[in-house]
Amino acid sequence: ATATTSPLPVLGRDVLVPLVTGGEVSYAALDYAASAPALQRVWDDIAAYAPYYGSVHRGAGYLSQLSTDLFENSRRDVAAFLGCRPDDQVIFTRATTDSLNLLAAALPQGTRVFVFETEHHASLLPWQQREGVEVGYLSAPRSPRQAARTLERALADWRAEANTGAALVCVTGASNVTGELWPVRELAEVAHAYGARIVLDAAQLAPHHPVDIAALDVDWVAFSGHKLYAPFGAGVLAGRADWLREAQPYLAGGGASRKVARKGDGGVDVEWHTTEARHEAGSPNVIGAYAIASACKALTEAGFESLVARERELIAKVRAGLAEVPEVRVLSLFGDDAPRVGVISFVVEGWNSSHFAAALSAEYGIGVRDGLFCAHPLVRTLLGGEPGEAGECGAPEAAPGERSLNAIRVSFGAGTPDEHVERFVGAVK
Ligand code: PMP
Repeated sequence: ATATTSPLPVLGRDVLVPLVTGGEVSYAALDYAASAPALQRVWDDIAAYAPYYGSVHRGAGYLSQLSTDLFENSRRDVAAFLGCRPDDQVIFTRATTDSLNLLAAALPQGTRVFVFETEHHASLLPWQQREGVEVGYLSAPRSPRQAARTLERALADWRAEANTGAALVCVTGASNVTGELWPVRELAEVAHAYGARIVLDAAQLAPHHPVDIAALDVDWVAFSGHKLYAPFGAGVLAGRADWLREAQPYLAGGGASRKVARKGDGGVDVEWHTTEARHEAGSPNVIGAYAIASACKALTEAGFESLVARERELIAKVRAGLAEVPEVRVLSLFGDDAPRVGVISFVVEGWNSSHFAAALSAEYGIGVRDGLFCAHPLVRTLLGGEPGEAGECGAPEAAPGERSLNAIRVSFGAGTPDEHVERFVGAVK
């Protein structure tokens, strides 16, 4: 196992990778923001359940019953982790992208959605795909206070148009590019003051900080298991039941339908469930749901204070190391002192970011992310120019020595040993 002072052990990932300079080195995975390793506890829980795997909500057989209990208990554990209100629903999805698309599909006709242009594409794009929904894009704020003011102005204008329809604000809790924390509680207050609802994209926040849906006073929360140390293909959408209950099922099929009967005219009559099952058609991913619940319990038991304290040490180490390299520019929307999670993006003068990341991998065995991080407008704002054409989430082509068209991101969390960030800082230097 890797040496670590982390309060929560992760699955040992001692992969030896070959270096172009010769020899091998233990891989330093510093791309937690893309996908984090499984917690050892999650891995153990899944291994213990695997021999008894069965289908959920599919009859009286012992293993089906056991799997159903596990799935429904997982729902309760996630609700407890998120501090859900009694009427909230917890829907298991594939990941954050799926959760936000589900919510977009469930919006009442005529809903106006407000979203900052700095959002990850998962929280930026689903709304415009929905017919009968209008989207108001908000410009990049340069401080948390400015974010609240920008939202307030947009909502005030919208209400001044004598608009009585529904409105939804979508905001990220922690940026997947800068790691900066957004003022979720304040934005929720502004949204509610104008009768709008708010959904929190907690994909990057939940692995680092407690997310309490009632205390933050947000209407929905979305997050992904694979970023929360539970990489088994599931995610969560949790929150207010009313719109979800009234919406058409996200997927049509078994499990979502309560009663189906042939009609006299040859058609089919369907009565859909009004519980979470309405949006969980098909055989549910019980392993994924149980993995998330297991991670939620492990994080709660370890306590976020110790995780945050450990992460703060690692952030300080990386920031101090990068600050010693004059060619490095760390990307930030809210300024150097803004509170952040362990996600740091930067560019290196005179280097193409993709080549830099490739060198970190090939010469030092360090895995970081390079590209535009599925947040093209934000990266464009931060780089102060037009990034080149890029494939979705990809890195544009550029010749060596050209101005950076994209960036490098280092990210870490539970289980990250000091040696990994020290090797990273040494390599950058
Ligand atoms: N929102 C944010 C802030 C993210 O960082 C990501 C993943 N990079 C997503 C949403 C989408 O998550 P997923 O790919 O798991 O659906």
